[in-house]
Amino acid sequence: MSDCLFCKIVAGEIPSAKVYEDEFVYAFKDISPIAPVHYLFVPKQHISGASEISPENAEIVGKIFTAIAKVAAEEHLDSGFRVVTNCGEDAGQTVPHLHFHLLAGKTMGWSVEQGV
Ligand code: 5GP
Ligand code: ZN
Repeated sequence: MSDCLFCKIVAGEIPSAKVYEDEFVYAFKDISPIAPVHYLFVPKQHISGASEISPENAEIVGKIFTAIAKVAAEEHLDSGFRVVTNCGEDAGQTVPHLHFHLLAGKTMGWSVEQGV
């Protein structure tokens, strides 16, 4: 999608700090981290959010979680991590390209308002 921020990041048109890449998945550091480790995992194909996951494209979710597990192992996130996807206005989604936040490096509470 030509005017999508994360499509531009995937295409290299906007710089990002890459932490992982394969044929289907790209991951990079969040520009405004809310935890010591805060990465974003996105499909290379444009999917606007979790509400657009369907039987036709659901395989990408497994690929993303496989990538998350690989990065978590490489970075020794042994004491735990959190994976979050915000979908739509009430959840605070600000970029309409499916993405999963990987958060780690601190003991996290559980609050709908704060997330971390
Ligand atoms: P959302 O609020 O949609 O769940 O998450 C969007 C995330 O993208 C936010 O955590 C925000 O900090 C991050 N973000 C927004 N613009 C950029 C950018 O240009 N580069 C990077 N690396 N992260 C971004
Ligand atoms: Zn996109």
